[in-house]
Amino acid sequence: MVSLAEVVAGLPETRKLYLEDSYKKEAESYVLRWIKETGRKGYLVVKETIMHPKSGAQPSDRGVLESDGTTFTVSKVMEYDSVIVHYGEISGGDFKEGMDVRMHLDWERRYKIMRTHTAGHIVDYAVVTVYGRPFQSQSATHDVGHGFQEYLGKYLGDLKERIEDVANEVAVSNRPVFAEYVSAHELGKKVFGAPNLGRLPRLDVYRIIVIEGINAIPCGGTHVKNTSEVGRIKIESVEQVSNGFRVSYRVLDS
Ligand SMILES: [Zn+2]
Repeated sequence: MVSLAEVVAGLPETRKLYLEDSYKKEAESYVLRWIKETGRKGYLVVKETIMHPKSGAQPSDRGVLESDGTTFTVSKVMEYDSVIVHYGEISGGDFKEGMDVRMHLDWERRYKIMRTHTAGHIVDYAVVTVYGRPFQSQSATHDVGHGFQEYLGKYLGDLKERIEDVANEVAVSNRPVFAEYVSAHELGKKVFGAPNLGRLPRLDVYRIIVIEGINAIPCGGTHVKNTSEVGRIKIESVEQVSNGFRVSYRVLDS
């Protein structure tokens, strides 16, 4: 069993192309490390990547990396010490360090995750609006087409129809969604309506996702660039959990 610490030892931080442009579906890079584990499976690190790891409530991207007849199918993407590690299965040949690769993102899956993640930030706003007070979030998941947010605090009742109405008003309001980078010092002035301030790591620079006029939330995820791309948001349930409540939602395709 190979540890991620061994996989990334001595490697530089990966350039995260998905943070620069979440719509980038293909890119070129080169192999920094290839460690075979068992059979045709192993760990691949390249200089830059378009694939988001499993982190910050988002699931792993999927896709392929290829080079001269060699195809590597990614089943899991992980981050360790700021290095992105692709885990998957190789076929047709083998990789060597320094080899050029072309990567292709499973875009259909990713785009759905982007819509779901932006919907999650809209749900944060709708919850504050409907209950009339801010909440701290304790966890969240933005999966392929469905997600949930869990908030700390008293359960104030199942207002899912009202939350859904507010969320959909925002979704159809054609608001720009964009990332900004702010220093730790500026963070307090730039964020608003953010439920996750109580559980942020300590960083020098924070990436925040702004939905114009709605909220600005520290976030390392991939988002659509306009709320109109989210589509219809369905609030599936609002339920009490041990120390708060959970709002589960789905983005609909039509
Ligand atoms: Zn987020």
